[in-house]
Amino acid sequence: MCCTHSFEEVKNEPLSPAVSLDGIKGMKFFDPHVHMTSRTTDDYQAMADAGVVALIEPAFWLGQPRTGIDSFRDYYSSLIGWERFRSSQFGIKHYCTIGLNSREANNEALAEQVMEILPLFVYKEGVVGIGEIGFDDQTAAEEKYYRLQLELAKESGLPVQIHTPHRDKKGGTKRSMDIAIEHGLDPYKVIVDHNNEETVKEVLDRGFWAAFTIYPFTKMGNERMVEIAKQYGSERIMVNSAADWGISDPLAVPKTAALMKIRGISDADIELITYRNTITAFAQSGQIDEADFASVSNTIDQSQKFEGNTILRGGQQPRVDKSSIIIS
Ligand SMILES: [Zn+2]
Repeated sequence: MCCTHSFEEVKNEPLSPAVSLDGIKGMKFFDPHVHMTSRTTDDYQAMADAGVVALIEPAFWLGQPRTGIDSFRDYYSSLIGWERFRSSQFGIKHYCTIGLNSREANNEALAEQVMEILPLFVYKEGVVGIGEIGFDDQTAAEEKYYRLQLELAKESGLPVQIHTPHRDKKGGTKRSMDIAIEHGLDPYKVIVDHNNEETVKEVLDRGFWAAFTIYPFTKMGNERMVEIAKQYGSERIMVNSAADWGISDPLAVPKTAALMKIRGISDADIELITYRNTITAFAQSGQIDEADFASVSNTIDQSQKFEGNTILRGGQQPRVDKSSIIIS
């Protein structure tokens, strides 16, 4: 559920039964919302093995409030630097969206400083949007910085990735779209995230992209997602894991594809929902070249360095043999 997780909200929905990934072997996936900074190398390896070839990491909050601007600066730098490099070492193309998250918009003194440094990051290589931005508690401060960042999106020509609130989701989603329109944004450049059955129709009817987060216990389970795909098809719909530091699943996209396949959704629709639509939406940034995903997996060299550092800790060999139980 990312960004604004509080455990009181967790509903006791059962986990979906395990889905075999056999049916989707050879398919490629693009996860357009995953916070890899919070994940381990094992997750990268598992994602690569399951067919994830590219991902987008939106800027979000850390689970506790930042206390100074340098913390934002270092975080944004890592999204375009170290994390991007780390991902490449597992053969996954890493993109990010840069923005001030809704929660921390409520610290206005700090938010002002963040607005000043955002332009230093949004034009960097691999930045495919302004995000994730929008509403959490729907406060006046959140609205102020949401509007300012929509203006930054217009100025930079970048797509917008909208985080919709958990509380009053329907009202908050509608309000997010109303404001984007008011600022003159083209709905085709706006990806509205964390949709559910209540919001999807209006989002699609108004011409926005509808993203769905498959996240255990909260948001959407992938069985519900299958039903949405059956009802609404594949146009302007995408799924993501929003995996972060909470109980989440970085394989949510391939698992959902596998379940869709079992439930009879066509390969063409699955490809659109779990891969192609993300490219179409975010390539409007001018930063995505699909050819990069094909080449990146052939050039993995885990002894490569980023500013003098590798992902290997003292004396480690590149790649771990996952099939062996011996750790040497
Ligand atoms: Zn998120």
